[in-house]
Amino acid sequence: MGRSRAVPLADGVWRIPTSVGDLVNTFVFRGADGSVTLVDAGYRWIGSRRVLAGLAELGASPSDVTRILVTHAHTDHAGSLARLVDVTGAKVASHERDSIYLREGRAPRTDLSTRAARLAGRFVPKKMAPVEVAEEFADGMVLPVAGGLRVVHTPGHTPGHVSLLHESTGVLVTGDAVFNMRGLRWPPAWACTDPTRNRRSADVLGDLDYEVAAFTHGAEIRDRAREAVRAFLRGRER
Ligand SMILES: [Zn+2]
Repeated sequence: MGRSRAVPLADGVWRIPTSVGDLVNTFVFRGADGSVTLVDAGYRWIGSRRVLAGLAELGASPSDVTRILVTHAHTDHAGSLARLVDVTGAKVASHERDSIYLREGRAPRTDLSTRAARLAGRFVPKKMAPVEVAEEFADGMVLPVAGGLRVVHTPGHTPGHVSLLHESTGVLVTGDAVFNMRGLRWPPAWACTDPTRNRRSADVLGDLDYEVAAFTHGAEIRDRAREAVRAFLRGRER
C-alpha cells in the first residue's frame, strides 16, 4: 500500500508531504467553487511531482490551482515554484519583504556567525528559478482563500516569513517559525536570517486561536495544539 499523498487537516484543507516522510510540507486550501490555493511548492523536481500527485488524489486538476502562496523564499519551499506556475498557470503571492528573492531566484542571506553555521550553510542550495510575483501581502491581511486566510508576519527565519491562519477551520500553518521534528523546536540558526528575531516574532503564534497546528516541517498537532505551541513558546527561555 502506498502512503497517502494528501493528509486531510480539516474540511477543504490538506497537507501534501513533498519530500521524505513529513520532512517538508505543502498545504492545499480548496474553496467552495473548487478553486485551489497552494501554500508552498517544495524542493525543485520532487516538490512539484509530489504536489501534482497529491492534487490528483484529491480529484483536483492542475488548472484548478489559481494561487500559490509562499511562506518564505527558501529552496525547500519555493524550489518547485516556477515549475508549478508553468503547469498550473497559478499566480504567485508572497510577503512584500520576500518577493524580491523569489523574483531574483535567490534565498536571503542566513546567519553564518558561527563556524558550525558556515559549515552547514555551505551545503544548502541558495538559488532557484526566478518567478513573477503577482501579489504581495502584508501582516494582518485576510486573503480571499477558501473563506479567508489571515497573514501573520513572523519575520526572522527570513525577512518576509509568514504564518497563515485559516480562521473558519481553525488551521494554523506556522511555516518555518517553529518546526515539529521530533517535538517542537526552533529552526536551525544557520537556516535563519535572524534567529533571535524569529524566536521573538513567533510569540504571536501563542495569541492566535486554532485547533490544528500545521508545520512546513513535521506532522501536524491535532490535540490541544494551541496549548502545545504555547508551552513551547513559554519554555524557550528556560
Ligand atoms: Zn524550510
